[in-house]
Amino acid sequence: MKRTDQYWDASVEALSRSQLDQLQLRKLKQVLDRVQSSVLYGPRLKEAGLSSAGLSAIEDIRRIPFTTKADLRSQYPFGLVCVPKDRLVRLHVSSGTTGQATAVLYTRGDVDRWADLLARCMYMTGARPGHTFQNLTGYGMFTGGLGFHYGSERLGLLTIPSGAGNSKRQIQLMRDFGTNILHIIPSYALRLMDVLGEMGMDPKHDLELKIAYLGAEPYSEEVRRRVEDFYGIKVYNSYGLSEMNGPGVAFECPFQSGMHIWEDAYLVEIVDPETLEPVEDGTFGELVLTTLDREAMPILRYRTRDVTRILPGDCPCGRVHRRLDRIRGRSDDMFIIKGVNIFPIQVEHVLMNIPEVGNNYVIVLRRENDIDEMLVRVEVTQELFVEDMRHLHRVRKEIVRNLKNELLVTPAVELVEPNSLPKSEGKAVRLLDQRTPRKGG
Ligand code: ADP
Ligand code: ZN
Repeated sequence: MKRTDQYWDASVEALSRSQLDQLQLRKLKQVLDRVQSSVLYGPRLKEAGLSSAGLSAIEDIRRIPFTTKADLRSQYPFGLVCVPKDRLVRLHVSSGTTGQATAVLYTRGDVDRWADLLARCMYMTGARPGHTFQNLTGYGMFTGGLGFHYGSERLGLLTIPSGAGNSKRQIQLMRDFGTNILHIIPSYALRLMDVLGEMGMDPKHDLELKIAYLGAEPYSEEVRRRVEDFYGIKVYNSYGLSEMNGPGVAFECPFQSGMHIWEDAYLVEIVDPETLEPVEDGTFGELVLTTLDREAMPILRYRTRDVTRILPGDCPCGRVHRRLDRIRGRSDDMFIIKGVNIFPIQVEHVLMNIPEVGNNYVIVLRRENDIDEMLVRVEVTQELFVEDMRHLHRVRKEIVRNLKNELLVTPAVELVEPNSLPKSEGKAVRLLDQRTPRKGG
């Protein structure tokens, strides 16, 4: 551990590439030893003839199969644990966005190293003791709550565990305690903008915010800009998933150009989702991760389903930990309409570039007379809503045109009042697929 002005822990953040490679190889060997007793991995290693002694390069890991969500489910609840039960101190489950939940268990050391990773992330963006940090994400089973909480206390920030929801109270806390740093889900950051507006507050003058960490769901560069401009802050992208501890897997540095994935703790691969072969840096594919530090529940080659790419080139901050591009979404978020593959985030990118568009939207897929249709329901700003019909009509046409140019599909667009679309407490639901299976197949 080596603290400097720039680095929370220079002994891992300031390594050269070859040092980092060596560290990974050493840790991967330990992982292979640790999973010998695993009911899932023991037999898989044997079959591949892979052991720590025989591991000569990181790439050898490709000899063992991927781990899927189905594997994790089949081992629920304790199947993947590699330590005696009396060493377990924490359980989280994934929020179950895509079906049955999976369990993740931690030893004291795991919880400790995870806290340290989050402290590292926050320190990197300028968080320092003396700052007040407000954590506006759900606590409990969702890893965003306790994960950031422990990291923030580790770093020495005054930590407000305000949890999700109750917007007026959130804002009151921000004001009373001079909150400087937020952790918040993007859709909630947008919603709070409306609440602040209703309260007649301008965060730039009435609050002391400096930084926000936005993550847990996909969002566009346009949303980042909106949030930065409205609150007068810097927004940093934060990525993680329960299966890999939770947040703290990858995080943006002050250059805001991709998220450094902490390669001393995670081994990263990007594969073509069809062929499952590795793709070149710069090419989009599915993110595959291996834990290098976890004791209780090591996971090898986990298919995250998240679609992203490695950004080629060096980061000006000097860290050699490679950078992930913004996550486009999960491969299962992608929908197909009229033969075109679309991620909801592409729709958001178009909408949020139009100033009259408000802070919430939803995409509805319907089937009428056997024809698929895409309807985008968009909240508009209060100002536009009180304008005359002609202006509304013009904006609607502009949205249709821009969406068509981006997606090559012409959607129906419906403009609705601010604050009228359904809100969710946790991750936003951006897509409602109401298509029923076609008759006869
Ligand atoms: P669940 O899988 O049930 O949603 P998690 O809380 O573990 O539960 O969610 C992790 C997932 O959230 C990631 O796999 C990814 O799809 C999404 N996610 C997390 N952070 C980001 C981010 N910064 N950008 C886009 N998506 C993200
Ligand atoms: Zn950097």
